[in-house]
Amino acid sequence: MIAAMNPCPCGYLGSRQQACRCSPDQVLRYQSKLSGPLIDRIDLHIEVPALPAADLLHAPAGESTQAIRSRSSAARQRAMDRQGMTNQALQGQDIDQHVALDAAAAKFLNLTAARLGWSARGIHRALKVARTIADLDGAASTQVAHVAEAMQYRRALRATA
Ligand SMILES: [Zn+2]
Repeated sequence: MIAAMNPCPCGYLGSRQQACRCSPDQVLRYQSKLSGPLIDRIDLHIEVPALPAADLLHAPAGESTQAIRSRSSAARQRAMDRQGMTNQALQGQDIDQHVALDAAAAKFLNLTAARLGWSARGIHRALKVARTIADLDGAASTQVAHVAEAMQYRRALRATA
């Protein structure tokens, strides 16, 4: 599922090009229209800053589409070989078994999720994303850096509220 929203009613909150005209109250009311359960169902929250057109035209080339495609399909194959399904399809105890969190990553996840007040469902979804990041990395276990990256994707939206 892919969804997009402006950070605030006028759309310029956090922009360096133009000042946001909204009051903090308006921003809070706008962002709180998204319910917690809905936010929980979205795996990746990424803030995309507004860029002037000139920056877009002159942006350096990133990783080639083909390189990304071959890295993704290798990651998907790792998941299939390990558990016979994608990470996204894992449910219940299979998540704990196959995510293969190392001890430091488990500790980091528990502490951070408790501090952020995450639901069990939110934690499970972050775990599956972390496992995918580990697969993209070619790592056998899911490590702190993978968990931290997955949690960061889920936090981006709420962190601004
Ligand atoms: Zn605004």
